Amino acid sequence: MADYQHILLAVDFSDQDTYVARKAERLATFFSAKLSIIHVLDNIPMPDTAYGTVIPLYSDSSYELLEIEKDKLIQAGNRLAIDPANRWLIWGKPEVEIIRVANEEDVDLIVVGSHGRHGLALLLGSTASGVLHHAQCDVLAVRLEDEWAGSEMFAST
Ligand code: AMP
Repeated sequence: MADYQHILLAVDFSDQDTYVARKAERLATFFSAKLSIIHVLDNIPMPDTAYGTVIPLYSDSSYELLEIEKDKLIQAGNRLAIDPANRWLIWGKPEVEIIRVANEEDVDLIVVGSHGRHGLALLLGSTASGVLHHAQCDVLAVRLEDEWAGSEMFAST
């Protein structure tokens, strides 16, 4: 297995982040690799902001929703003892920005969660499959429990 030097952990602030983060943290320790973290803002309106804009984490804005997202990333970065310079908050499309940062920062392993979706969601794609298909480096897709997929199957029978 390659000796990874820079691992990028992608977080969506879901309940399952901790599980994915633990894997990334262990790998970083095992390989003595640099660990970076990224969250791509795609869930709050960011008027007049171009896709790909890096949002500064440590300067206050008057935008309450943005401050909440910043705080979540700062907390996650603190929990993992990630250097503040390696914490990325970017406005855009998750798979595009994750891959952009990976390329620009010489990342050699991206760690994402993967829901292994079925049916329509599979056709429409997911962040994990977008990253897997387009990344130029290795990708670890950490398999997550997919409770909603199970309930969807029960509902359709
Ligand atoms: P998804 O397939 O979109 O449900 O997400 C699967 C995984 O992609 C998550 O566990 C994260 O690792 C990553 N991911 C999803 N959305 C984002 C986001 N907005 N920013 C960073 N990573 C994300």
